[in-house]
Amino acid sequence: MVSGVTAKQNIYQRFGVKTIINAGGPMTRLSGSILSPEVREAMSEAASACVRVEDIQEAAGKLIAEVTGSEAGYVTSGAAGGLALSAAAAIAGLDVARMDKLPDTTGMPNEIIVQREHMTAYSHALRLPGAKLVEVGYVGYPGQGCTWPWQIETEINERTVAIFYSIGNSPGAVSLPEVVEVAHRHNLPVIVDAAAALPPVGNLRRFINEEADLVCFSGGKAIAGPQASGILAGRADLIASVALQHQDMDVMPATWTWRDRYLKDGALPGPPHHGLGRPLKVGKEEIVGLMVALEQYVNRDHAADQRRWEDMLQEIASALQDVPGISIDLRGRKTASSVPIAVVAFDEAVIEQPVEAVINALIEGDPAVAVSQAHVHDRAIGINPMVLQPGEPAIVAQRLREVLGYS
Ligand SMILES: *Cc1c(COP(=O)(O)O)cnc(C)c1O
Repeated sequence: MVSGVTAKQNIYQRFGVKTIINAGGPMTRLSGSILSPEVREAMSEAASACVRVEDIQEAAGKLIAEVTGSEAGYVTSGAAGGLALSAAAAIAGLDVARMDKLPDTTGMPNEIIVQREHMTAYSHALRLPGAKLVEVGYVGYPGQGCTWPWQIETEINERTVAIFYSIGNSPGAVSLPEVVEVAHRHNLPVIVDAAAALPPVGNLRRFINEEADLVCFSGGKAIAGPQASGILAGRADLIASVALQHQDMDVMPATWTWRDRYLKDGALPGPPHHGLGRPLKVGKEEIVGLMVALEQYVNRDHAADQRRWEDMLQEIASALQDVPGISIDLRGRKTASSVPIAVVAFDEAVIEQPVEAVINALIEGDPAVAVSQAHVHDRAIGINPMVLQPGEPAIVAQRLREVLGYS
């Protein structure tokens, strides 16, 4: 069986690594998305000349601000890196002595309030600079919900530095506009994890419109930028703090690029040293790749994407119609975005194997097929069409038939 991709696999073959058909979506452990020729070309061109990294970051920041409607922008090492840097900015602001101490937050405010519905595994990244997460409310379902604005407000005190908000499926949670209202009444920033909240493309502007102060998106998911890139959009002073804590700061005051901006009028006592974000490096290739991917993403025909995705799922469902022991729901939707997902549920007594064995056989087979495991609790696999290439839906269906012994 031929997977349709041949020449491109050479570099992986050379190093003895098998490529996969990605029906799981642009997940980090599946190496993100597949980059367009234009993005690959841009990364290659970026690799052919050196620049000052702060210059290319500032150019990217302008583009991000334009596209999201924010005051400022920055390219991070993924959305999780953006969350860690956002927390560092909320804790340190433009105080270089505080930047210098992180992640030791002894004697400084460091609490970030999180609704329990928003305690995803990614919120862990907020702890990197030494933040303490203060949980409020109830997970709520089944039942009435939920969390109320007063529960958030009750936890605000002189140690609070920010309120966190995760965009996802959390129906009992306080809405972003309500959280912003409470936070801003207390002069606190709201940090939004919108990593997987695209599409719809309108979400690039939506959370900024709703007056969130820092919004993180993954560059390597729907935007189809480099896997290790992310977007941080938000308030200029907070983005400035992010830059100061993220850039290579092995600099001398008299020759520092930003000496006029920060030193001339004494805004800072001196440049900070390498900050908490220094290990979250982003290279020129990622920055430029993300910029071109973002331009392409906002100009895409998003309705055509939806139709293509639905057609691919329909093709897989049709090819599996006669297989006993499975039922396919084509109306599954990812929590934070509008990508259609095919949820393929198994009657394990009929297929005579647990769903985990199906997943393992698919990824360990030839060609290797990765599927979404977000529905394993319902004894189902998910097919996410975002990274599927032409010709691959047929292979996914064929491999599933073989694994189920119905080829
Ligand atoms: C993927 C994801 C992240 C992490 O994003 P990266 O760009 O991979 O760092 C954070 N939060 C949520 C909700 C995600 O889905």
